[in-house]
Amino acid sequence: MARNILVTGGGTGIGRAVALHFAEQGEQVVVTGRRAAPIEELAAEDGVRAVVCDHTDPAALTRLLDELPPRIDVLVNNAGGNVLFDTEAGADLASYARDFRANIEANLISAALTTKALDARLAEGGAVVHIGSIAADQGAGSYGASKAGLATWNISLAHELGARGITANVVAPGYIADTEFFRDRLTDERRGQLIANTATGRPGSPEDVVGAIAFLASPAARHVTGQVLHVNGGAHTTR
Ligand code: NDP
Repeated sequence: MARNILVTGGGTGIGRAVALHFAEQGEQVVVTGRRAAPIEELAAEDGVRAVVCDHTDPAALTRLLDELPPRIDVLVNNAGGNVLFDTEAGADLASYARDFRANIEANLISAALTTKALDARLAEGGAVVHIGSIAADQGAGSYGASKAGLATWNISLAHELGARGITANVVAPGYIADTEFFRDRLTDERRGQLIANTATGRPGSPEDVVGAIAFLASPAARHVTGQVLHVNGGAHTTR
């Protein structure tokens, strides 16, 4: 039987590749995003449906429930990014507070609210996978802090969901090319550094991240929970 899969922020980059993978496997996929255009384009694919939703907004999440099936087998909390790439950082304390809060909202609160909203629909034996970041271990200010918070919060989530046979894990990518993540902020020099940091000598691709998510959502990973799975070409190691 086809599984019902929700990929948040599924219109571009990593989320798009994840949605396409599961749809190609014959699963029923819902993708969300704040902009209609990218998700509606993807919804032309068999097995993909699009719903506009801002995952930081509790009211929007409540409306999203009306559009979702009664059972969700796999939830991929992918929506997020570094909001500082979209704004000129202000020098004053009020701007600093606004931007810091925005990153926590975009990456941590969005995933927590989405998981909470869907709690009653998460199917026994299912999987929740959040997209974290190498930044959680290497810095990157409020963005890294938001992804570190996500990984820590996930530990308690894994315990809450474990009794229902549902796993909860984080996939933490390193530098992944061919997404909208960096906007126009990635210089050639910085890109070269990010690649030089890897053992593989190349940027990651959205498909590299898909493999890790597909594994965590598969029957092979039913005793893997509360973990962070790094997909970074060796740019950060846990030993
Ligand atoms: P993209 O910017 O291409 O994808 C992010 C997607 O999330 C967009 O489609 C965006 O669509 C959506 N989104 C953002 N905020 C919200 C929101 N509040 N509600 C709903 N949708 C939202 O970049 P990536 O594919 O690279 O990013 C995917 C995830 O991977 C992010 O969580 C990012 O932090 C993480 N990551 C990326 C890395 C990289 O190098 N690319 C490295 C490590 C982690 P819209 O604007 O229409 O809402």
